[in-house]
Amino acid sequence: MTDDPTREATALLQDLIRNACVNDGRPESGEERRSSDLLTGYLEGSGLDIEHYEPQPGRRSMLAKIEGSDPQAPSLLLMGHTDVVPVNEDGWSRDPFGAEIVDGMVWGRGAVDMLNLTATMAVAFKRLAESGFKPKGTLSYLAVADEEARGIWGADWLVEHELDDVKADYVLTESGGFQVPTAQGPRLPVMVEEKGTYWSKIIVRGTPGHASSPYRTDNALVTAAEVVRRLAEFQAPVELSGTWQRLVQGLQLPDVLLEEEGFRDRIDELPLGMARIAYSCTHTTFAPTVIHGGTKTNVIPDRVDIEVDIRTLPGQSGEIAHKLLLEALGDLADSVEIESGDDPSSQSPIDTPLWDALGRVTERLCAGSALVPWLMTGATDNRFFRRAGSVGYGFGLFSQRLTFGDYATMFHGNDERVDQESLRLSTELWLAIAEEMVG
Ligand SMILES: [Zn+2]
Repeated sequence: MTDDPTREATALLQDLIRNACVNDGRPESGEERRSSDLLTGYLEGSGLDIEHYEPQPGRRSMLAKIEGSDPQAPSLLLMGHTDVVPVNEDGWSRDPFGAEIVDGMVWGRGAVDMLNLTATMAVAFKRLAESGFKPKGTLSYLAVADEEARGIWGADWLVEHELDDVKADYVLTESGGFQVPTAQGPRLPVMVEEKGTYWSKIIVRGTPGHASSPYRTDNALVTAAEVVRRLAEFQAPVELSGTWQRLVQGLQLPDVLLEEEGFRDRIDELPLGMARIAYSCTHTTFAPTVIHGGTKTNVIPDRVDIEVDIRTLPGQSGEIAHKLLLEALGDLADSVEIESGDDPSSQSPIDTPLWDALGRVTERLCAGSALVPWLMTGATDNRFFRRAGSVGYGFGLFSQRLTFGDYATMFHGNDERVDQESLRLSTELWLAIAEEMVG
């Protein structure tokens, strides 16, 4: 324990990185119990109520609360996940779990997704508790397991089984809050919406035979190649939502991105990273990602399975996604089988006290800045809480040292790292937002 919150957040982040709670999707991976215990040890003795939940051995989440004095007052939950995605060590210039500090940067898997925020939330929470913070509304901190594999042993499970404990009127979790420079000053994205998933498996059948006589055979692999080609080429219609329009205006992107006509021609004038985001924010997307098929070099394959990552826009049902999928497949739609799972999009309004409070706080912490609503193309634990009735935003606060481009490539990528000034800013953010929202 030091008097310097940034140093404390740095040390906590280093410990979380070194715990390497790598979630590869298997129920026995992650072992977040270690980081749950680490954070419990850190917060214990501050007079907080602390609870643990472990629906699967090792997959432990921790909830700490400062009870509000007025049960009617709005409550706020700060939520950070403790798991991280696997690494490919070959792509890293430093030990991904070494948590080295180099030139004011903390290196390691989870440095921006999202152990940085999980750590700074804990530091802010402990400071509030020790300062005798007596809020009107209840303030909670949830260090949650299994975010990286759909929250089955984490947020999804907690909302399903322990809603009374974890429910809050307002929820803050990853991501957002990187500074996007504009002529009018930095703009800070707030993730108010998330796309849904409509992950599908396409089963292509053929007729087995000896591969020494391939002429006019019904080869499932050859059909599958055409299916993949069609999926990759397919473009769903452009949808220019209200959030997209505010984003374009807020970031002062070219106006042509607000017109359906010409959108696709002009999108390539943007830097590639931004073009990708622009496309994903305005389209249901189709990405073929996995293919399995064939048994032996001399056998014509009779079955190939193709997995497609389909991401739906807010307001679009699985039914719409399915129609688009059939359109993409064209005349092959009738000859394949499709299995799909629908995890719909989620959204929160922006005319809320939390939006206003974030605006006031960030104006103080980041001179000349303004908030911009953003559609998150991936998914976070916010979706479970939004479905349970909470207003949930994805936000943090980063210094200008970490550009949007850095941030986007480090997410699940190589050489993930965060600067200590960003840790200072996000700690300040949580302290101020708690004061504004429940104080
Ligand atoms: Zn994350």
